[in-house]
Amino acid sequence: NLEVGIVGLPNVGKSTLFNAITKAGAEAANYPFCTIEPNIGVVDVPDVRLQVLHEMYNSKKTTPASVRFVDIAGLVKGAAQGEGLGNKFLAHIRQVDAVAQVVRCFVDSNITHVEGSIDPLRDIEIINTELCLADLETLDKRLDRLAKIARSGNKDAKVEENVLLRIKEVLQEAQPARRVEMTEEEVTMVRELHLLTLKPTLFIANVAEDEVVTAETENEYVQKVKQYATEEGAEVVVISAKVESEIAELDGDDAKMFLEELGLEESGLTKLIKASFKLLGLLTFMTSGPDECRAWTITQGTKAPQAAGKIHTDIERGFIRAEIVSYDDLIAAGSNAAAREKGQVRLEGKEYVMQDGDVTYFRFNV
Ligand code: GDP
Repeated sequence: NLEVGIVGLPNVGKSTLFNAITKAGAEAANYPFCTIEPNIGVVDVPDVRLQVLHEMYNSKKTTPASVRFVDIAGLVKGAAQGEGLGNKFLAHIRQVDAVAQVVRCFVDSNITHVEGSIDPLRDIEIINTELCLADLETLDKRLDRLAKIARSGNKDAKVEENVLLRIKEVLQEAQPARRVEMTEEEVTMVRELHLLTLKPTLFIANVAEDEVVTAETENEYVQKVKQYATEEGAEVVVISAKVESEIAELDGDDAKMFLEELGLEESGLTKLIKASFKLLGLLTFMTSGPDECRAWTITQGTKAPQAAGKIHTDIERGFIRAEIVSYDDLIAAGSNAAAREKGQVRLEGKEYVMQDGDVTYFRFNV
């Protein structure tokens, strides 16, 4: 499942946000590892469609898609050199699909900023430099090994060496590896290294609780982060970690009322999940029936058999066809039978590219 790592300088609001995530979290029983790994929080992906399907099919249970957030605390200057959490920190972040960088955009004289002042762009630079240094270390290790292999005349090693040297040049200027243009072959080679600065990144602008509505357009720090992110092709989510922690204390209806009072349509956490989906090009398809209605996360462009493989490898292997009705058609028709009568339940084959909101039934050989 989708995994997002949370990074940021100390005192920017990471723990506050992360605590809100854990409190708002999906049922712990489903994710036993959460109690073992205190820095992992799993949250349901909010999706009203699942609730509607649940009612239509009168299903026994619903299982939403989920996102895992990993709190990667302790990134301070020098983390790449093994200070602070150092290597353990880096090992953890390597596994994530995306990196969310919390940036302090709230002013509060009671809370010291480790760098002495509020300056989101400087903070972003510090974190980026750390990530580049960590990647440089990874690259150097790999280059050492490659030099030996390349000497024996291995062609692949030469190609890889070439691309790694190009990346190294960029990293040495404290620029992320994603700036480097690569061929498909090179991308595949480099992927193995799990470089941090190749991962899609989004910024979480943490603003004061009384600014949570206006900050989007009025907070000067947020504007700076947005400008920076636009140049990077990254997303910015404006939240107030304080507000999130208050929302997390409330249950469903109360939380909704609280959001309304604040003038917010949705929680920061929901915004964060949506932004992560967008950043990674993810979409959701659903399976539904009397036993369970369930949402599944796939990347854009996934074909029907591979989507089936998310459910079980046997279904992918024995894939025959997918019976698909789009959510909107299904709701307009009122029931699966009615949609079928209208010819809206399509039979799709191996080459079908899954669409967001496909309500799917896979036929397969056992
Ligand atoms: P971390 O070091 O990045 O994990 O930061 P913390 O989550 O521990 O936050 C540092 C301090 O900033 C704590 O005292 C928080 O209560 C405070 N803080 C975090 N978010 C906000 C916010 O949105 N508004 C205000 N006023 N304070 C915040």
